[in-house]
Amino acid sequence: MQPTVLPSPPRVGMVSLGCPKALVDSERILTRLRADGYGLSPDYEGADVVLVNTCGFLDSAKEESLEAIGEAIAENGRVIVTGCLGREAEMIRARFPQVLAISGAHQYEAVVGAVREAAPLPPSPYVDLVPEAGLKLTPRHYSYLKISEGCNHRCSFCIIPSIRGDLVSRRPDAILREAEKLVAAGTRELLVISQDTSAYGLDLAHRAWPWKGNEVRAHMTDLARELGRLGAWVRLHYVYPYPHVDRVIALMAEGLVLPYLDIPFQHASPPILRAMRRPANDARVLERIRSWRAICPEIAIRSTFVVGFPGETEADFEYLMDWLDEAQLDRVGAFRFEPVAGAAANDLPGAVPVAVKEERYARLMEKCATISAAKLRAKVGHAIDVIIDETDGEGGATGRSKADAPEIDGQVHLRDAAERAPGDIVRVTVEDADEHDLFGAPVLS
Ligand code: SF4
Repeated sequence: MQPTVLPSPPRVGMVSLGCPKALVDSERILTRLRADGYGLSPDYEGADVVLVNTCGFLDSAKEESLEAIGEAIAENGRVIVTGCLGREAEMIRARFPQVLAISGAHQYEAVVGAVREAAPLPPSPYVDLVPEAGLKLTPRHYSYLKISEGCNHRCSFCIIPSIRGDLVSRRPDAILREAEKLVAAGTRELLVISQDTSAYGLDLAHRAWPWKGNEVRAHMTDLARELGRLGAWVRLHYVYPYPHVDRVIALMAEGLVLPYLDIPFQHASPPILRAMRRPANDARVLERIRSWRAICPEIAIRSTFVVGFPGETEADFEYLMDWLDEAQLDRVGAFRFEPVAGAAANDLPGAVPVAVKEERYARLMEKCATISAAKLRAKVGHAIDVIIDETDGEGGATGRSKADAPEIDGQVHLRDAAERAPGDIVRVTVEDADEHDLFGAPVLS
């Protein structure tokens, strides 16, 4: 009998730009294409068609997306564009008339339809099986878990609601099923993402769904508790300091959820927060932080700030600097204000000169580095849990503590870790620290 020779399927290349939410979109698109029988290509050369998943948030991100489209056209020529920048289809077409199709963020059907048209599958009764957890662009041991899309807020510097619409939450049972599959497939850390994790389930009136013989409400606390029971690390991103967040801190103290909160405060000065139209803009945030630390002393708080927002005076900036002294945040990222086309903040008076923005940015980063260095120094001599991300083949390894999210926070550099593999969670003695990273060795058992 002649062996069956299957026709080789068309291969799709993917360039994924932007935030973790866009990465999740890319994973979904690839999973879907793989389920349909497409192959994947790691390079331009081997691809029958290239997908570029774009970001359109800041002007600099737009430019990066346009450059990526240009490169894909030059290298391959058959290019489909999707993602946030897709809403500016006319501009893309004017610059790159050769683009085969353009769709917006999370328009999976449109992307898959465009791929089918550009590179039709040969007729075959066989399709490739998709791995249980779908296809992931993140390493196997950590996975982003998107729990909702869109946002009900209208921060004046942000155009995400106009791109992605109002909050639409996923059903809690669907999220938990996805998380369960990810854990079964080797995920040791789940990174919960959305635009506003604390608002999860509001659009579903926090209704309950059956789950494992019980009920689980579409609510941040219930979801976090059930995720914590799956046995992986659970890290919460993009949380706002609403009162109900206090209940999640209790779950952190119980060890069900990582003692880590990513809260984008953006500023501290009340007039600037009002001009930014930030959610949960409450002057008592410092009190809340103190009470969280009383409930869960090891909590690490990460935040981002914008300097040079229109109308920011030296007094506003000083207020922010004093606030940071009080808040003693563990991890801080900062941006200089950049007008985003279509954002309400662009019309505000009081533009801050570039030199002033730069100077404030440098002062803020210096302060936060000093705070971070002191906090990390205090860990020297203590034992902490570290998840291994990479080994160097020479006995060294790099990982992260519970206080470090991948890509955005610090790392823990290990010596004498030859036996360890990515995804292992190892008890480590901290031997040294700098402004952002820790250094140590596994505890000998
Ligand atoms: S909370 Fe504000 S900054 Fe965040 S997505 Fe919503 S509108 Fe944008």
